[in-house]
Amino acid sequence: MPAHGRLIVMSSSLPLLALTIDVEWAPAEIIREMLAEVDGRGLRATLFCTHTPELKIGGRHEMALHPNFHGESDWASTFEQLRQQHPGAVGLRSHSLHSDTRLVRLLPNWGIRYQSNLFAPGQAVAPFRRETGLWEIPIHYMDFFHLCVPARHPKGFEAACLPSSQPLLVMDFHPIPWFVNAATLSDYEAAKEFYHEPAKLAGLRRKGPGVATLFGEVLDAAAAGRWQSVTLRETVELLDEDPPDTLWDWPSSTGAAPRR
Ligand SMILES: [Zn+2]
Repeated sequence: MPAHGRLIVMSSSLPLLALTIDVEWAPAEIIREMLAEVDGRGLRATLFCTHTPELKIGGRHEMALHPNFHGESDWASTFEQLRQQHPGAVGLRSHSLHSDTRLVRLLPNWGIRYQSNLFAPGQAVAPFRRETGLWEIPIHYMDFFHLCVPARHPKGFEAACLPSSQPLLVMDFHPIPWFVNAATLSDYEAAKEFYHEPAKLAGLRRKGPGVATLFGEVLDAAAAGRWQSVTLRETVELLDEDPPDTLWDWPSSTGAAPRR
């Protein structure tokens, strides 16, 4: 079976949708409300966690890690603190998608099987292995960048505009833009002042098209059968069922090659 064989077989009847949420230190009640939307449609989400709000997460969702490595030289301790809160995590997305070759080397040693630190907006980019065997699962849509570069989303907040040709669509949402239903960067900036005050944030909730209406439309479409909902961990488990392809055997063949 070719690389991505299982993933392609699984998605041959329905493309897969991985809804991901970067928790971003948001209040637990907002995250709970967001997850209730997902639960209400019987779907699944992957949460990239920055802390441990008192969430009662059912088994259907995945808890992954969202460390902030900015300004940190000791990534191991930043990672470990977060890992202790979520000991079963096998996935990681850094704050601001920070990644470099050093992190790609470290993560497999720390028991991490995939990172999702590459943003390829709207493009049919599939998961691939990094140089240490770590899976990279690219993101195809991010609400924050929709707000930052609206010109790249001329049709606005409509699920119909999402790419549909790839077997796996990875979407990234953030709790506060979702909670206030932001449609512009200034909507989000205004909400940041009350980041930890849900009652005040509720007063800023917009009507009309925005991040929340898109989120709801995507959930409705998935529940109606446009996609099959998966977590990123499930995606990696499918990918790992495939035998390594010949290209991935490169370390031994490279080692045997004559030096020039
Ligand atoms: Zn972040």
